[in-house]
Amino acid sequence: MRADGESSGIAQVGAAAVADDRTGAVCDQAAAQGNDESGAAHDDAAYRVDDGTAVASNWPDVGAGVTTDGSVSRADVGAGVTCDGRTTGVADQGMTIWLTGLSGAGKSTIASMLTDRLTKLGIAAEWLDGDELRRALGKGLGFSREDRFENIRRAVYLADMLNRHGVVTVVSLISPYTEMRDYARQTLPRFAEVYVDCALEVCESRDVKGLYAKARRSEIPSFTGISDPYEIPPGPELTLHTAGQTPEESVNTLLAWLTEHTSLKLNQ
Ligand code: ADP
Repeated sequence: MRADGESSGIAQVGAAAVADDRTGAVCDQAAAQGNDESGAAHDDAAYRVDDGTAVASNWPDVGAGVTTDGSVSRADVGAGVTCDGRTTGVADQGMTIWLTGLSGAGKSTIASMLTDRLTKLGIAAEWLDGDELRRALGKGLGFSREDRFENIRRAVYLADMLNRHGVVTVVSLISPYTEMRDYARQTLPRFAEVYVDCALEVCESRDVKGLYAKARRSEIPSFTGISDPYEIPPGPELTLHTAGQTPEESVNTLLAWLTEHTSLKLNQ
């Protein structure tokens, strides 16, 4: 089942327990569903978007605890009690926004600005950046398909933990293979894949870190876009075309999507 706040995740298990806490059976069943769904395939989305146009309506409610001035009111975030007795509450708003694209496409720039904007609105938000993750937790990992997958597994593990604690987690990772992004989608109960689209030539002309020049000189093996594949996402929730936008415009497009498809009430 797709990331659906009505039927998956910790907060929903809690809701079921509250709704019917006299019957242990309901609680057990809900908990079982929660476990099951963290590994189950999602249904096809009816809400794909390209640059913020035309979408669907079945994005889950991501926490109702945002006040009219945009700040989060913890008390308002529908608290409940899970089967093991923990309160839910803030977990309702946890979700992952997964930015994928070529090196230099604009993932880190957008992720940083988005996290900043969310934080200023009083929303608990964290940014998990690919380079930073590799520095902090990627010891021993190279850039083979297997190692890239392992890097993503670690990012997903962290994002899941943060989401469970109500944190909106913005991930910026090249994540070049569809299989890996699908793993993230299937594992994280509330997930939005954002394809940061930018032509290779433009990324290369930006060459923010000088990596393309090195890759062209064959000084970096397995460099995505040059000597390693990048599989274009077949169905992201949102595509941002950063070659034709300023970073601010890209972030505003993303915020507009979040406003329309989640319950985060974001003043822009
Ligand atoms: P990535 O994280 O994808 O490797 P970076 O964010 O590090 O890419 O670098 C992207 C570069 O492109 C930055 O210098 C940024 O200022 C520039 N840029 C130009 N337009 C945009 C846009 N619309 N969104 C994001 N970055 C942009």
